[in-house]
Amino acid sequence: MESFESLDLACNAAKEWLAGLDSRPVMATASVEDLRRRLGGPLGSAGKQPKEVIEHLLESTKDGHHGSAGGRFFAWVIGGSLPSALAADWLTSAWDQNAALYACGPAASVIEEIAGEWVKDLLQLPREASFAFTTGCQLAHFTCLASARDAILERAGWNVNESGLFGAPEIRVLTSEHRHGSIDRAARFLGFGNRSLVSIGTDRSGRVEPRALRAALHDSRQPTIVVLSAADLNIAAFDSFKELIPIARQCGAWVHVDGAFGLFSRASEQFRHLTSGVDLADSWATDAHKWLNVPFDCGIAIVRDRIAHRNAMTIRASYITGDSSARDQIDWNPEWSRRARGIAVYAALRELGRDGVADLVERTSGHCWHLVTELGRLPGVQMLWEPHLNQGLVRFLDHRRSATDADHDRVTESIVSAINADGEAFFSLTTWEGKRAMRVSVVNWRTSERDVERAIAAVRRALARREDGSDIGKAG
Ligand SMILES: *Cc1c(COP(=O)(O)O)cnc(C)c1O
Repeated sequence: MESFESLDLACNAAKEWLAGLDSRPVMATASVEDLRRRLGGPLGSAGKQPKEVIEHLLESTKDGHHGSAGGRFFAWVIGGSLPSALAADWLTSAWDQNAALYACGPAASVIEEIAGEWVKDLLQLPREASFAFTTGCQLAHFTCLASARDAILERAGWNVNESGLFGAPEIRVLTSEHRHGSIDRAARFLGFGNRSLVSIGTDRSGRVEPRALRAALHDSRQPTIVVLSAADLNIAAFDSFKELIPIARQCGAWVHVDGAFGLFSRASEQFRHLTSGVDLADSWATDAHKWLNVPFDCGIAIVRDRIAHRNAMTIRASYITGDSSARDQIDWNPEWSRRARGIAVYAALRELGRDGVADLVERTSGHCWHLVTELGRLPGVQMLWEPHLNQGLVRFLDHRRSATDADHDRVTESIVSAINADGEAFFSLTTWEGKRAMRVSVVNWRTSERDVERAIAAVRRALARREDGSDIGKAG
């Protein structure tokens, strides 16, 4: 009988890790040298017992992980893992199905098929749309934009699967300068250069201006993809889909939406108005590993024109149809062999139900508002963006009368480092409208009122230490 010692060890260590999230420093404290020294060295010729391997991993990395699974990690946009999603993820590894084809993983194929239908339903996107569970929003963009590229070139009389891009009509991608870098990279993978990405004008809150979009569209008859945003990562700015999408469609453009976390606001009645009209788009990319709180990694691509999606992804000639009615993920995903990452999505959705997802969105947004507005009340702190969803911005000010923006930037950077070093909470920096700011993102199901209070106390402490004459913010 095989011994499961290494699995027991991992399970106990995982439980210990999760139970310790409340008391351990949020920030990893090991240095890169520490980690290399402990983990590195030559690969020996002799192997080790599984248990020893796991023990070594645990011992070498115990101070090398951030507490991002916990409730006081507000950096970037990083969700935690719901208990059922984490457990389902472990089982996904244990079952070890190759979720490329129904034939390789029957239950995995059906679970993902159902999870995808649930996601579309929850996000109120067209029922007829197809979907794929990708590694993240980056590959979801790639999948959606590949579908877009094929479809709009087809309309221009060019078969990209047959003829490639050499000599094809040039496509342009109209988008705002606030777009996420993953759009640029997806475009690059698909054979578009930077020149193909054309920025359109935005208003003061970073939303694409209808007039600017109309002008750009009328400017040229080129095949066009318009990329809009359902929450940018600084202030969760939503484009006005209701106004913009009809303009784009009128000119025959394909509209793609980056809704990495923001699309989940559709699960809440309170916030649904933010995405009003988003269902008119042609494709949507989102993440399950952010607001839905499944373990890394899982993104979701959704495409209205399922034929375009399938043509862009499948490796089978369209005249070969499998004799089974089952869903083969390889027809929709850019990967060949793949992990059945939709199983964790299925679990998360069952655990939460519709009400639970709505509650998660509303609760975390409430925490974000509370946290940012409370910080904004502290002396020397300026609230740069009051959260209307789950993202907000604050800036720490240099007290000197003569202080310039560059001084405030420096103070902001040093206070954020001081807060993070304190270990009670973890935030990241961003640049918004040319100013350095501390970004506050709340998307973790674990974040509680108590966590918010602890984070505010940690910021107060960092500010008080500065008052006490430590040299934070003074040295360059
Ligand atoms: C995180 C994020 C992405 C990239 O998603 P990945 O899952 O990291 O690939 C794209 N757009 C926005 C707005 C994001 O927040």
